[in-house]
Amino acid sequence: MIVDLRSDTVTKPTPGMMEAMMNAKVGDDVFGEDPTINELEQKAAAIFGKEAGLFCPSGTMTNQIGIKCFTQPLDELIADQTAHVYRYEGGGIAFNSSVSARLLNGERGIITAEMIEPEINAVNDHYPRTSLVVLENTSNRGGGSCYTLENIKPIAALCKAKGLKLHLDGARIFNALTKTGDKASDYGQYFDGISICLSKGLGAPVGSVLLSSKETIKYARRVRKVFGGGMRQAGFLAAAGIYALDHHVERLKIDHTHAQILAEALRNCPAVSNVLPVETNLILFDTVEPATVVLEKLAAHGIRALSTHPHRIRFVLHLDVHPDMVEHVVGVLKSFK
Ligand SMILES: *Cc1c(COP(=O)(O)O)cnc(C)c1O
Repeated sequence: MIVDLRSDTVTKPTPGMMEAMMNAKVGDDVFGEDPTINELEQKAAAIFGKEAGLFCPSGTMTNQIGIKCFTQPLDELIADQTAHVYRYEGGGIAFNSSVSARLLNGERGIITAEMIEPEINAVNDHYPRTSLVVLENTSNRGGGSCYTLENIKPIAALCKAKGLKLHLDGARIFNALTKTGDKASDYGQYFDGISICLSKGLGAPVGSVLLSSKETIKYARRVRKVFGGGMRQAGFLAAAGIYALDHHVERLKIDHTHAQILAEALRNCPAVSNVLPVETNLILFDTVEPATVVLEKLAAHGIRALSTHPHRIRFVLHLDVHPDMVEHVVGVLKSFK
């Protein structure tokens, strides 16, 4: 048995999703004529209480377009030091937008209005102009930690008072909503831009959607074209996204339950020195032996995972990890001395 816990991006389309893709009505989206993409964009925008959406090939692109829309060259954005937009998007903040980043030491990736406020630059020729705050929910490097809307409200109020834009990297926003019970439709009012991912926990093969006002999305379409992301009959992919929104959100709670079962097994495993708090579908744990050694032992039992530090391993739950696989991993962990 192979259990792939490396990432929630490794999922494959289900038969139902494949059927939806095969039957999609398509057109040339650069002309705005793909009905399935239009439907996905409108559907996602409605779910989050925003006016419009833009379908893109990746979450990196939706984030980078968002940053481009909400900044000018010589500006600065504020984010947690673990932020995907800073660490894992290849330096795109500087390259695509000519913007610098002020990084905060949040608590497992979560930052507060109190942390942000002193880092907003005064208006002075010495300083880059602070124009954007980026939040990540759930936080990837934070091990799937969540913001609640109660955490977000004071940040949104601060941004409004100071004239800053607020962007959400919501690659795993549905995991956060599953955990917190907050309503997606309440999110739109607090964020200028929201990036949601269809190809992580939701199981679509490709795609993210940027959500914002009609005016911003109009400009974002131009930026997407410049970034090389204008797609043609991509409705086949959008159909997978629509299917995912309809069928794969509710089930995320299963992944979270599986994560709790594995976390418990890890806490009882002598090869593991510490398990970080588990809130959603990600588990970070520290190993007594080097992570590479533990990864090899896991691999010998068909369990695949990644290390994030020399003594830290990440497990990610997703829709291709079934209950019998979770049982298998628990059994293997029990056998470790
Ligand atoms: C995966 C991820 C993204 C986007 O990644 P792509 O691979 O470009 O789709 C953005 N933010 C976070 C937090 C992620 O985990």
